[in-house]
Amino acid sequence: MVIILKKSHDKAQLDSLISWLKSKNFECHLSSGTSQTILGLIGDTSVLDIDLLKAMDIVGDVKRILEPYKNVNRRFHPDDTVIEVGGSKIGGGNFGVMAGPCSVESAEQIIGIAEKVKAAGANFLRGGAYKPRSSPYSFQGLRDKGIEMLLEAKKATGLPIVTEIMDISQLQYFDDIDVIQVGTRNMQNFELLKELGKCRKPILLKRGMSATLEELLMSAEYISAGGNTEIILCERGIRTFEPATRNTLDISAVPLLKKLSHLPVIVDPSHATGKASLVKSMCLAAAASGADGLMIEVHNDPAHAWSDGQQSLTPDEFKSTMDAVKHIWSFCFDALKEKSN
Ligand code: PEP
Ligand code: MN
Repeated sequence: MVIILKKSHDKAQLDSLISWLKSKNFECHLSSGTSQTILGLIGDTSVLDIDLLKAMDIVGDVKRILEPYKNVNRRFHPDDTVIEVGGSKIGGGNFGVMAGPCSVESAEQIIGIAEKVKAAGANFLRGGAYKPRSSPYSFQGLRDKGIEMLLEAKKATGLPIVTEIMDISQLQYFDDIDVIQVGTRNMQNFELLKELGKCRKPILLKRGMSATLEELLMSAEYISAGGNTEIILCERGIRTFEPATRNTLDISAVPLLKKLSHLPVIVDPSHATGKASLVKSMCLAAAASGADGLMIEVHNDPAHAWSDGQQSLTPDEFKSTMDAVKHIWSFCFDALKEKSN
């Protein structure tokens, strides 16, 4: 980190700043030029409050050289993190596909879809039991009953389960859930993230709809700072001025996140586009961009789905998407690897 001092600073102020920084175990390197005085800090600056420094009388500006996240930073952990759940892997050359309905509607529905997505090649079953809905009058999910149905589907198919948590109080129902999803609306629910940091199971962290990549990675850092390093990042579209799609899929987030972090990165084209007709092409784009996997909404009867039917694929559409993705992914994975070698 570099602190640029104001021209007007006096020696007493500078000495007091340096001794304060030394008391925090930073090594300080002062460089006094003709027009600018700069203080270079050596030490773990991720614990320093940059805004506090900027507010100091003698400080003109502060520039970070290293990113403010450490645990999830590829700089410090060059190897890809591989998440393994019940024999299914994501990351480090393993492509994971999570598929299933937006909401769990009944045991028959979720088991039926689980069987179909498994047969088409999905290796995780998704399904919402606790649903974050924009309207309090919309279906809110089957809650703990939905979790029980997901576990029935796990028993029937062997597929590991991914489902969303909205509040710490729901954690008691997640003992047998394999991957806990944090949705876009909770990406910065820091108390929830801290609690999930204490869990010993993978967390699927979806990007906040208005969050920068650095904010996403700082949220992942919250989880890993608590000791849970099993995190999967998910690009699910961001809010832009474009109303033609539900969100705008930020495909460049994939290679960027993979450059900045060792964590696996997956793409959710269903919530990113809000349109079933766009899902297949965005799955192919995600695979070509180097994503480690996909999360796709699949429903047995999209027209009558209790939520997000407009963006859900039928099992047949899912199968044709999977066949195309497998082809593209293995070709692109090898091509991307060659490029980075
Ligand atoms: C979901 O996956 O069902 C969901 C609500 O996703 P998001 O948080 O990305 O909107
Ligand atoms: Mn949904």
